[in-house]
Amino acid sequence: MTDSLAERLADVDDRIAAAARAAGRDPAGITRIVVTKFHPVSLIDRLYALGVRDVGENRQQELTAKRRDVQPSPHLRWHFIGQAQTKKARAIRSAADVVHSVDRERLADALQRAGEPGSVLDVLLQINLTSDPARGGVAPAGVDALAEHVAACTGLRVRGVMAVAPLDEPPAAAFARLADCAQRVRRVVPDAAWISAGMSGDFVEAVAAGATHLRIGSAITGPRPAHN
Ligand SMILES: *Cc1c(COP(=O)(O)O)cnc(C)c1O
Repeated sequence: MTDSLAERLADVDDRIAAAARAAGRDPAGITRIVVTKFHPVSLIDRLYALGVRDVGENRQQELTAKRRDVQPSPHLRWHFIGQAQTKKARAIRSAADVVHSVDRERLADALQRAGEPGSVLDVLLQINLTSDPARGGVAPAGVDALAEHVAACTGLRVRGVMAVAPLDEPPAAAFARLADCAQRVRRVVPDAAWISAGMSGDFVEAVAAGATHLRIGSAITGPRPAHN
């Protein structure tokens, strides 16, 4: 098992590097986050032993529990990538190093209030690239206003944008819209250079479109266990 995990990780990293070179980009400028949701904490320990330093979780309770139970791993960074409930802001803030899913002012305000005085949390603005308003993310039309609002929260640092590509269109088209949103955020926060995009099925297209942070689960971990 350890061998196949190592092989899948190496294979994905080779494909990321190839996609970066094909796009004229330095592979070192790309952060590969391994999405470990629904997997046991022992998987995170094994990934850490293989050199993984960035992991992603999409549920607050699971994130909190795993961060408590993982073997002491001083350099592990925890990315919260799921839809965030405002009432969970304090728990999210204390367990996450980066929150990818800030998509409304009320959530930004709650995360801001949840911080210790003087602490600064890295956040990304999640963009909804689908036509379904029920999906997570701010509509592209609302990006500028949200960026202005979050930029004014002194306990939050806007690092860039995040999105999930819709299933019903080619990912390249969706990622092009995301790149446009990223540029608009940079007009408000000039150093907000991160673009979190690309999952197991579309990370090559995401790299071509400028993604700096890839959130890759099953291609590395294998199928997720059933959950409730
Ligand atoms: C689960 C998840 C991923 C990873 O998905 P895979 O297809 O397993 O790579 C990436 N981003 C988000 C927001 C997720 O919830």
